[in-house]
Amino acid sequence: MEVSGLWQSPSWPPGQGYPDFLNAVAKINWSGTAYELLEILQSIEQSFGRLHSERNAPRPLDLDILDFNGQIIRSELLNLPHPRMLDRGFVLLPLQQVSPNWLDPETGKAISDYIARLPLCDIEPMKYRGVFYEIRR
Ligand code: AMP
Repeated sequence: MEVSGLWQSPSWPPGQGYPDFLNAVAKINWSGTAYELLEILQSIEQSFGRLHSERNAPRPLDLDILDFNGQIIRSELLNLPHPRMLDRGFVLLPLQQVSPNWLDPETGKAISDYIARLPLCDIEPMKYRGVFYEIRR
């Protein structure tokens, strides 16, 4: 498994007074299906006490599948690649750390192209007491 650093960004939508969000991306080996993985991620979210309240409200843990071997799935339960990932610097920056050569399976565009057109100014590596925090791999 490879894990990115932690990236800190203001909560979304702005102006709600919620604390900053922390995001990271992990690259894992998985021999089951994407749907089986989703089920496991959802049970982990529940064990962290996730409440399905209003959209974008703060939650202890939110686990999403970004990409699954480049598969394209559009179904009620699962969308791959994750539909909103390309507009989110807090997803693309950590993804680039673990998969610098990632290509969008739908367009063939490189991750660096998507990052180049994002406003990134409010996303930064997490600082703890002034020191950038890195997860050990
Ligand atoms: P969220 O509020 O972002 O955790 O969304 C959870 C819902 O999104 C669940 O009902 C999932 O079935 C659905 N979903 C669709 N595509 C994905 C994906 N790629 N990763 C995680 N959840 C997904």
